[in-house]
Amino acid sequence: MISNIQGIHHITAIAGNAQRNYDFYTRVLGLRMVKRTVNFDDPGTYHFYYGNETGTPGTILTFFPWEGIASGRAGAGMATEIGYSVPADSLEFWAQRFRDNKIQQDPVAQRLGETYLSFRDPDGLKLDLIASKYPDGRQPWTTPQVDADAATKGFHSVTLTLKSIKPTASILTDILGYELREQEGNRYRYITPASPTASVVDLVEAPQEARGLSGGGTNHHVAFRVANEAVQMEFREKVLQKGLHITPKINRDYFFSLYFREPGGVLFELATDNPGFTVDEPLDQLGTHLKLPVQYEAMRADIEKSLPALNS
Ligand code: ZN
Repeated sequence: MISNIQGIHHITAIAGNAQRNYDFYTRVLGLRMVKRTVNFDDPGTYHFYYGNETGTPGTILTFFPWEGIASGRAGAGMATEIGYSVPADSLEFWAQRFRDNKIQQDPVAQRLGETYLSFRDPDGLKLDLIASKYPDGRQPWTTPQVDADAATKGFHSVTLTLKSIKPTASILTDILGYELREQEGNRYRYITPASPTASVVDLVEAPQEARGLSGGGTNHHVAFRVANEAVQMEFREKVLQKGLHITPKINRDYFFSLYFREPGGVLFELATDNPGFTVDEPLDQLGTHLKLPVQYEAMRADIEKSLPALNS
């Protein structure tokens, strides 16, 4: 199955204040910061990566924190929910933890046979903690406050909201190898059989929904996982054959990327497993130092001065 899409690689969203973002994801949610770098297209901005110990694809949530950015609005043509897989009996722990930390949350609910807890990060980004009905043996990153009985194991799913699901569904099934498995109301569940985890894409059909507006607290893109660059280039051909535009291969230092906008409006990326986050710092130090791509290393002093200070 190595030549297939192996689920979600990472999800990237937009935040405001960098420190607030860091504190929420590392302290409240208990993720590991696995890389502290800059936006390669805008080196005056951080790019934060959070994940499990090694930043395994399928666990990686990334942010561009743009201080003072206006809030966006989730809507049609966007990834609107990020689902994390958590242990079955952990939702009460999380609900209490969110109350203690004044995090906005909804009552625990049921959907497609799974219990879940929706909450908002400090920028208003919607996430769900889902007691997954699919076996999930991934080892979580743990902290003194969030142990293995509760810690997130990585992604369960991403939800895309669409005026019509059909064009997006055909990309998922015809190109990316996903299969329609379940439906509840206007939510259609697609799964790739090529991965046991991070394998779900839910499409929500909402014809009356206003189009989303990019900004703080919204998702920027969804990256799908490919084993290596050879597989990636095979998918590039398939996207081109569908008549869609797709970028050339771009080196993101920790993976190689291709980007294309699916017809429903969501920016998709295809990202490789190689080389991973230990390419420029050892495993035990991931995320502890500002790492820059080689093209910006000569500007390090200026970049460090322009970035907000981060207390970690
Ligand atoms: Zn990306």
